[in-house]
Amino acid sequence: MQNTPRTIPQETDLLIIGAGTGGATLAGIVARDTGHRVTLVEAGPDYGPPDRSVWPADLLDPRPGATSHDWVYEGIAHSAQPEPINYWRARVIGGCSSHNYCNASVGHRCDYDGWANMGNPDWNWDSVAPAFARAQEAMRVHTPSVEELTPYHVAYLDGAAEVGIPRVSEFNNPDEERGVSPFPVNVSDGMRWNSAFAYLDPVRHKSNLNIVDNALVERIVLEGEKATAVQVFADGQHHTIRARRIVVAGGAYCSPAILMRSGIGDPDQLRRIGIDPLHSLPGVGQNLTDHPLLLLLFNPTDKLEKQMAQLGGTARRSEVRTMAKIPSPHCSEGFDLDLISRTLHWPETDEMQYGIVITMVAPRSRGRLTLTSADPEAKPIIDIGYLTDAAENDLNAVIDGVEISRTIGATIARAGLIDGEKDPGAAVSSRQGVGQWVQSTVNSFAHPSCTCRMGPTNDSGAVVDHNGKVHGVDGLYVCDASVFPVVMRAPTNLPTAMVAEHLAARIGDIR
Ligand SMILES: Cc1cc2nc3c(=O)[nH]c(=O)nc-3n(C[C@H](O)[C@H](O)[C@H](O)COP(=O)(O)OP(=O)(O)OC[C@H]3O[C@@H](n4cnc5c(N)ncnc54)[C@H](O)[C@@H]3O)c2cc1C
Repeated sequence: MQNTPRTIPQETDLLIIGAGTGGATLAGIVARDTGHRVTLVEAGPDYGPPDRSVWPADLLDPRPGATSHDWVYEGIAHSAQPEPINYWRARVIGGCSSHNYCNASVGHRCDYDGWANMGNPDWNWDSVAPAFARAQEAMRVHTPSVEELTPYHVAYLDGAAEVGIPRVSEFNNPDEERGVSPFPVNVSDGMRWNSAFAYLDPVRHKSNLNIVDNALVERIVLEGEKATAVQVFADGQHHTIRARRIVVAGGAYCSPAILMRSGIGDPDQLRRIGIDPLHSLPGVGQNLTDHPLLLLLFNPTDKLEKQMAQLGGTARRSEVRTMAKIPSPHCSEGFDLDLISRTLHWPETDEMQYGIVITMVAPRSRGRLTLTSADPEAKPIIDIGYLTDAAENDLNAVIDGVEISRTIGATIARAGLIDGEKDPGAAVSSRQGVGQWVQSTVNSFAHPSCTCRMGPTNDSGAVVDHNGKVHGVDGLYVCDASVFPVVMRAPTNLPTAMVAEHLAARIGDIR
């Protein structure tokens, strides 16, 4: 909702770069709870409060497939794959929460206790639980009922129970290591309830909040060891906005890129691309972590097709799916596999596909993000590093996930709803064969994180401290999925909102 002509402020109290989940959550809370002038700068458009005539339909439709506002990043997922894949990232108010799958999970207690054990006091489960509770309320998270499931998803739920995964009523119990349930979603009134609806709309009327959309932050200005301003390109012009405090919330790909363009990172790497290194922090862009994803596909029987057809066009494409969490034999703590029942609809042919998504949610593999140039529109090099841990723990866990999914698939076949496997197919049966299929088809669960990870000063790879403040730079913070010390056993949206909820009072305390 851009007013033209508009005035871009020259100074502010708190400047937040990026209106995705981290940025929108933080901006909304600080604007609500303080009198500080909050300026939120977003590269994409701001469509305002939910209004089906203003918002592009794909961004409101909670079923997967929103691709209209993408940054268009890509990379090679695994050396066994010749072609790059797309790493989806939204460029719009609400960030990726405006085009994601709406799965709202918290992970396991051990995720956050592990963060605290890495030297981040007050980030253990008991400390972050209240922030999670507030985020769940704001994001309207609820668990759909079994009655909302399609026959395929009901068969999956029953099948998982039959192979020994207990049916749980509350998937977000942080103490459970196994369970299956319809997965909790942030969907309201049939709309994807994004972080901007949740956190910005309640404070849009406040005069201390200024949202500057369609504005690309090029770099942060450092004066000595203090961040004092940002340079922004908007409305065809370059602007400088001075700020008492600056927060980078561009997400796990853009946040390290913004820091590097500003001269913060590995000095040698920065020099190689013509950027003057101003502050050495070698961890920027390192430690990139994502959940690897595989999709096992089944052949539907006529019985399933008929049952689905009876539901009608909209209902059979329901966003309500089920998810099982389970420890593989390679798991050392909590659980390491999420297995999700999945239907896919292809609008061009009206074809439905039926499968199980296998994701390894405690990956040990790490990648990195680097820049090729100081140009803010240049694409970064994303080396995601799936399945590259030396001990092949991730690969073996995913293969276990395929085997477990096949046993669930066998129960759905016995119920008469599927007839054999379409991909990779029964011929791929040995562990080695499955491993090769995994490497050649592994894809992204779209949960990049940890590229500006939180840690104490004696952790040479840490970028921010436990308050989100960039080590060694005054007035500069990061608040998004890039600060996770280790990715949690859950999709990353709700945890990112939790991080912003947890940091808001500290970052908003500007004196
Ligand atoms: C296809 C897809 C499906 C997903 N499904 C789920 C799911 O079901 N459940 C779940 O929990 N998570 C899911 N996720 C992940 C989740 O949405 C993200 O982890 C979460 O949104 C991360 O929040 P963030 O604040 O770190 O970054 P983002 O939400 O990506 O926000 C970053 C924002 O910063 C802006 N920005 C970046 N650079 C600049 C710049 N230079 N100047 C100005 N603005 C800038 C971007 O445009 C963007 O709006 C999914 C993600 C994708 C892509």
